Amino acid sequence: MEPVLAYIDQHRDRFVRELQDWVKIPSISSDPEHKADLVKNAEHLAAELRRLGADRVEIWPTEGHPAVFAEWKHAPGGPTLLIYGHHDVQPVDPLDLWVTPPFEPAIREKRLWGRGVVDDKGQVHIHVKAIEAFVKTVGKLPVNLKLIVEGEEEVGSEHLEGLLRDKAKDLEADFVCVSDTSMFGRGIPSLCVGLRGLLYLEVRVDGPSTDLHSGSFGGGVANPVNALARMIARLHDDSGQVLVPGFYDKVRPLSAVERQEIAGLPFDEKEWLDSTGAPAAVGEAGYSTLERIWARPTLDCCGITGGFGGAGAKTIIPAFATAKVSCRLVPDQEPEVLEKLVGDYLKKVAPVGVRVTVTYLHGGRPYLAPTDHPVYDVAKRAFSKAFGAPTVFIREGGSIPFVRTIADATGKPCLLMGFGQPDENSHAPNEWLDLENYHLGIKSAVYLYEELGKLPLPKP
Ligand SMILES: [Zn+2]
Repeated sequence: MEPVLAYIDQHRDRFVRELQDWVKIPSISSDPEHKADLVKNAEHLAAELRRLGADRVEIWPTEGHPAVFAEWKHAPGGPTLLIYGHHDVQPVDPLDLWVTPPFEPAIREKRLWGRGVVDDKGQVHIHVKAIEAFVKTVGKLPVNLKLIVEGEEEVGSEHLEGLLRDKAKDLEADFVCVSDTSMFGRGIPSLCVGLRGLLYLEVRVDGPSTDLHSGSFGGGVANPVNALARMIARLHDDSGQVLVPGFYDKVRPLSAVERQEIAGLPFDEKEWLDSTGAPAAVGEAGYSTLERIWARPTLDCCGITGGFGGAGAKTIIPAFATAKVSCRLVPDQEPEVLEKLVGDYLKKVAPVGVRVTVTYLHGGRPYLAPTDHPVYDVAKRAFSKAFGAPTVFIREGGSIPFVRTIADATGKPCLLMGFGQPDENSHAPNEWLDLENYHLGIKSAVYLYEELGKLPLPKP
């Protein structure tokens, strides 16, 4: 391992320069004007992987943007690691808020600034350079390795499921590593072991066929805005518990060990609250803020419209009202089941005199890692060796639906080993990558490959 680690130290600055070259390609997947840039971007990565002596490098076209696949079969009979990343990036507006242009990556304050430096080109590059460090020193990788880098993550990974199905044989592996998440804080190596899922519904309450005069008709027919407000108010009780029958039935409770681990994290609640601007932290009784965000489901009204909102007064009974309602789901809640439970409940609590329609807009499944699998111990050790600090298990309140897609398609444990920082501005102006994290990330990957290569495979 000595020569591999020494190589990473020796070539530290060149690695960053090469990442800068890649970041210069504006691979914005949501903008049709950049379609050719996504192809150029994929080719740039594929060329680099070919230079690293991969046994196979292929660009997989999709109906959207292309994915890059590469494979190194250096450990015959040994385990195979599949690494997932994405090469597309978020849009950059508002452009005038960037201190330096998003596609002219610059170094300031020991950080690299630019679109995609951490989400996710920098994190893919960490693996590319870890591969290079082995290939250019000892001549081979200690584990069989496959890399899939898609080009549509920022637009919902529309064609990923198809790729996972059509290329199932190519993508077969013993474990999966996704590097597209953040660490809990500076210098705290973190493995994300849980993600919340999502259910998004639109509720429409109809009353009269047109807005009515509130003097001639008011008091004689139901008011859809009043009705919808009453329905929303009946979603929770005063302690913050969701009142939908069966809502919590499939929620997997936190174990005592996990509650203890969460309580032990260096979480500054005051700082967190200040960052929100809200006057107080509020949520389900009996749970800490981190537990509420990471491991408890929510039901929120994201918006409500209806009736008259213009200047002055207009005396009407509105014809209809609508609301957008979303749930953050936790293991083992599934969007289809919750769609029915929430929809039925809203119809049940609707007052007489209105018609209620509930429409499914979109959903994603939650993920919980099988942390008793030996790969988690290996990853913890690898991460800690590189960063010189204990590795913590964290969860993420947001949803990354493709993780569950990959985990379900492969049936293998999915390591979420990310090297970002919580305040890295991914998706916002002035995205940055901590260059120390990038450097230590390459070492973490190197330790991970080395240790995974030694893991005994389960008997077939
Ligand atoms: Zn990402």
